[in-house]
Amino acid sequence: IFISLEGPDGAGKTSVLEAMLPKLEKLNREIVSTREPGGNRVAEEIRQIILNPEHKEIDAKTELLLFVAARRLHLQSKIIPALEAGKMVIVDRFIDSSVAYQGFGRDLGVAAVSWLNQFATDGLKPDLTLYFDIDTDVALERIRKYRSNEMNRLDLEQAEMHQKVRKGYLEIVKKEPDRFVTIDASKPLENVITDSLAVITDRFFG
Ligand code: C5P
Ligand code: MG
Repeated sequence: IFISLEGPDGAGKTSVLEAMLPKLEKLNREIVSTREPGGNRVAEEIRQIILNPEHKEIDAKTELLLFVAARRLHLQSKIIPALEAGKMVIVDRFIDSSVAYQGFGRDLGVAAVSWLNQFATDGLKPDLTLYFDIDTDVALERIRKYRSNEMNRLDLEQAEMHQKVRKGYLEIVKKEPDRFVTIDASKPLENVITDSLAVITDRFFG
């Protein structure tokens, strides 16, 4: 079982995943939780390159190619072996982040990004994707509150970019209604955790 968590910055994906883990493990299932861009040593190094605020020369296409390279490494070294061992894999960001951020946010277009995703993953898609939907202003306010001490190159993007990313996500979700479940991420964290757990348990442990 392969699950991805998607959504704009500040939606709470990482916190929700952390909180869900012990509860899902109680259902007696081996869970591998991981994140993009990263998940293994080389992919984490690529993550550091992408996020470094000093790397102003990284343009949109380079950024896309780095994310996709990190995705392939992560998939081969961690995700596929875990799935083959029968584990449940939950990943914080996957293919849809590239479509939303680089395809829509950076205007590289859905076609190019989808093709690269397909190339890098050999077509592997999550069984379920939780899309954490949140109003851009609310999300940006959360980022300002909780992340002010660890801003990376991409946190510094303007509100306009964040708006485009959210619009992109909403379009992606419409196209694959069977894969996506939308979670209202503007609710308090406790509720978002409960809602997310309910979707996963209904689908896979029902
Ligand atoms: O959500 P996470 O902290 O993993 O993302 C790290 C940064 O990378 C975020 O600022 C996010 O906006 C950015 N990102 C991106 N394009 C992607 C994935 C993440 O710009 N495809
Ligand atoms: Mg996060």
